[in-house]
Amino acid sequence: MVQDMLLESHGVNPILIARDALHEYDTEVRVHPCDWKDCRMHIPVELKQVSKHLKQHHGINTSATSEDTEKIACLWSGCLDTHTKPGNISRHVLTRHLGVRWMCDNCGSSLSREDAFRRHSLERPNCQSANVVVNYGDGSRVIDLVYIDGGWSATQNVMLI
Ligand SMILES: [Zn+2]
Ligand SMILES: [Zn+2]
Ligand SMILES: [Zn+2]
Repeated sequence: MVQDMLLESHGVNPILIARDALHEYDTEVRVHPCDWKDCRMHIPVELKQVSKHLKQHHGINTSATSEDTEKIACLWSGCLDTHTKPGNISRHVLTRHLGVRWMCDNCGSSLSREDAFRRHSLERPNCQSANVVVNYGDGSRVIDLVYIDGGWSATQNVMLI
């Protein structure tokens, strides 16, 4: 079984997802490739998952919040941002690199934070009963967890590690 798995994965480029990132997903998960340095994994598209990934796989203390925390460079491929506080880097990656935006379904306003939508709907009388719609960037895809058997899904080319 394991040999078959390795054989099948040899020569292809499987979508690698951390097994422990998937505990809270039952049927499907939306993932995006991580372009941080030479990372080859995919991250579930959610703020806390991005934070966990950056901490576990890239050694970043994403919970640092202090004002005088040393600023760090974002090492995402092609990113020129060199002055991000560690505590802000997860949100930066989620919105800038994973392309997540929150959209008002009434007026179409696109917002970079979910809490900005609450403010938006309070400030605009027409949007008071509007709903927020999450927009995902082009590079993400939905993985069907039901078809992952023994950590491997040949049809989806997914491997859990
Ligand atoms: Zn990564
Ligand atoms: Zn960046
Ligand atoms: Zn609106």
